[in-house]
Amino acid sequence: MDRQDFTHTIRTQMFVDGRFSESGNGRTFAVFNPATGEEIAQVPDASDADIDAAVTAARRAFEADTWRRMPPAARERLLLKLADLVEQHGDELAALETLNQGKLLGFSKMLEVGGSVQWLRYMAGWATKIEGSTVDLSLAFPPGVRYNASTRRVPAGVVAAIVPWNFPLLMAVWKIAPALACGCTVVLKPAEETPLTAIRLAELAHEAGFPPGVFNVVTGQGETAGAALVRHAQVDKVTFTGSTEVGRIIGKQCASDLKRVSLELGGKSPVIVLDDCDPQRAIEGAAGAIFFNHGQVCTAGSRLYLPRARFDEIVNGIANVARTTVLGSGFDSATQMGPLVSARHRAKVTGMIAQGRAEGGEIVAGGGDGNRPGFFIEPTVIANAANKPLTVVREEVFGPVLVAMPYDEVEEAVAAANASEYGLGASVWTNQLDRALRVVDGVQAGTVWVNTHNMVDPALPFGGFKASGIGREHGRAIIDAYTETKSVCIAY
Ligand code: NAD
Repeated sequence: MDRQDFTHTIRTQMFVDGRFSESGNGRTFAVFNPATGEEIAQVPDASDADIDAAVTAARRAFEADTWRRMPPAARERLLLKLADLVEQHGDELAALETLNQGKLLGFSKMLEVGGSVQWLRYMAGWATKIEGSTVDLSLAFPPGVRYNASTRRVPAGVVAAIVPWNFPLLMAVWKIAPALACGCTVVLKPAEETPLTAIRLAELAHEAGFPPGVFNVVTGQGETAGAALVRHAQVDKVTFTGSTEVGRIIGKQCASDLKRVSLELGGKSPVIVLDDCDPQRAIEGAAGAIFFNHGQVCTAGSRLYLPRARFDEIVNGIANVARTTVLGSGFDSATQMGPLVSARHRAKVTGMIAQGRAEGGEIVAGGGDGNRPGFFIEPTVIANAANKPLTVVREEVFGPVLVAMPYDEVEEAVAAANASEYGLGASVWTNQLDRALRVVDGVQAGTVWVNTHNMVDPALPFGGFKASGIGREHGRAIIDAYTETKSVCIAY
């Protein structure tokens, strides 16, 4: 299946204040099918004026009593309705995601659509469970006066949500579902590479009955539309998922504006295999940790630490998985790995592989583009037997590129795992609980998995230590991200 076989209408306009709209200046940009390199649509390239219109609509919707004073149970029902609509239109949304992002159709169905439905339903439940507390004060004056004090959680206001291209629909839902559950209004900017499912999501939200202006989608470039959204004076809170580089720019702007900000950023997640682990299990686990979603995962297990005695056996096993992986269109059921998202991203990944080779890494498998049209890259395994300080060990590749390194003592592996500016995810592979827990204790990461990797759930907080971000998504923690505490003190 390719563009010609995609029979649904592709919505290509922005969605602002309950209506589709073009950019005021008529500018557009192209989005592509990464499996073929062909253009599939032109979408509006939002100007500052378009961003202003979207934020103004979100502000108006926030100030109106119809949304933030809506009974929480009614907000919950709207989110549940949206979940139902996403589920009903799941085949269409999944095909659109595979067409635009390149991932395997099965993953689009299971993760983009299935995950979005799961998150929407989970977050819908929070709308009715937002609570404050009562507080006993020690104030003793004026004499005879008593106090009744309490806290409330109130919606943070207008939220600017900026998301990347690796899980376009799911990342959008990770932002909008909790923000809407808390009573905020949202302007969402999807990545320029993958705007199509976000536009459709806004249309479905409108169909579900969300009032105009509550959820808006603007399309545009990061440095222009994204930056204009972040610095807009009527935005109260910025929530960003993307690279650490851009996260720093956004963080600086928000610090200077004193805006609330959450940052989910890059990673260089270590996978530590202990010597009691069955080699076959280590091979399958480590290969899955890096090659899933073509390595375009913030928690991708891109640094592999292996006991020296098992190094060659496990590296060769993963190289074999890489060599036998079938590349192709995400629509083809025989395909095991689709393309990278864009020509630009493929150029970055191939450049980093070449640099790894030049700096002394041994390319054991992959490294090429599979000799096909589209933005493909072969799954790549680099052996770094001498533990050289390769750039590809230090910097995020965000592609299917694994670097394997040997260690002698577990403490050495943990220290190497922590010798990174990032701290998003990590995994340890062992059958021995006490050894697993010692690694869990020692690794600096927002999530540590044992005998699994890349597993996320709406109930489990997710986020980064160090340069991997600020704040947590999911679970109870997410309510704090989209609400402010208001203290109330009553004298009587
Ligand atoms: P990116 O930072 O280039 O872009 C992300 C988004 O930010 C896009 O929508 C882009 O248009 C926008 N943007 C770019 N410059 C901007 C600016 N100056 N002001 C405002 N917005 C701007 O990231 P990407 O290449 O799309 O995504 C890959 C990155 O995302 C990787 O680093 C990956 O680790 C990270 N990521 C993190 C998580 C997480 O939860 N921690 C999840 C997924 C991806």
